[in-house]
Amino acid sequence: SRGTTPVPPGHPRLTVLSGPSGVGKSTVVAHMRKVHPEVWLSVSATTRKPRPGEKPGVQYYFVDDDEFDKLVANGELLEWAEFAGNRYGTPRGAVLEKLAAGESVLLEIDLQGARLVRESMPEAQLIFLAPPSWEELVRRLTGRGTESPEVIKERLAAARVELAAESEFDVTLVNTSVEDVARELLTFMNVA
Ligand code: 5GP
Repeated sequence: SRGTTPVPPGHPRLTVLSGPSGVGKSTVVAHMRKVHPEVWLSVSATTRKPRPGEKPGVQYYFVDDDEFDKLVANGELLEWAEFAGNRYGTPRGAVLEKLAAGESVLLEIDLQGARLVRESMPEAQLIFLAPPSWEELVRRLTGRGTESPEVIKERLAAARVELAAESEFDVTLVNTSVEDVARELLTFMNVA
């Protein structure tokens, strides 16, 4: 890790985990969920189609364009962004409830979303998950095997731009090992 943010003991916190697509954010979060099921993680709404093995309400709430329009129009999203042709957004109500109850909240969102959260909730702690190297990121994005070459190209282009955003974040964690990063993340969230 590079850089720290002091955590007042027992202070309710909003932590945002962001970083380039394919860097392994969701793998880290899935691991954390297994080891620390008590950590509350926001489930986003998305217009993307489910990947094999993804379950509605677990990885995402899968909605169509009209439903997403309604969420936006009704102000039900804390932030939302378009990424690689699909829209993704964080349901506002559940997050605010958890924070009001004094619980730690984790968002796993893209860079645009992280910037929006920084604007609307300046007390949020922003964590950047960086790949060990560019080559490793390309390998991971290409090797996922669930996306078409066109989509992979699009995501690599986005990742190049996103890597430059590291300096905007409070903390950088380098994803060398899922277990290590999950442990560091928990420390920054003040739950372990
Ligand atoms: P994927 O399609 O690979 O699941 O996610 C694509 C990108 O969207 C990832 O960088 C992921 O972190 C981000 N993402 C997931 N949920 C949200 C959200 O609610 N808001 C924003 N802004 N990005 C999200």
